[in-house]
Amino acid sequence: MKIKMLKCKSCGEYTLRSDKCPYCGGALRSPHPARFSPDDKYSKYRLKLILSEKTQE
Ligand SMILES: [Zn+2]
Repeated sequence: MKIKMLKCKSCGEYTLRSDKCPYCGGALRSPHPARFSPDDKYSKYRLKLILSEKTQE
């Protein structure tokens, strides 16, 4: 049996639900995003880029 846990974006609680957080009703996301691997030496630059794009809004 494969259990897929998700983490709430709002309160940070883990849940087995896939639609929304059972504690606060917030949106869920995967707790281990593959895009920002610690082995990826360019992840810092990519993160910086994303952050700078956000501040320009
Ligand atoms: Zn929550």
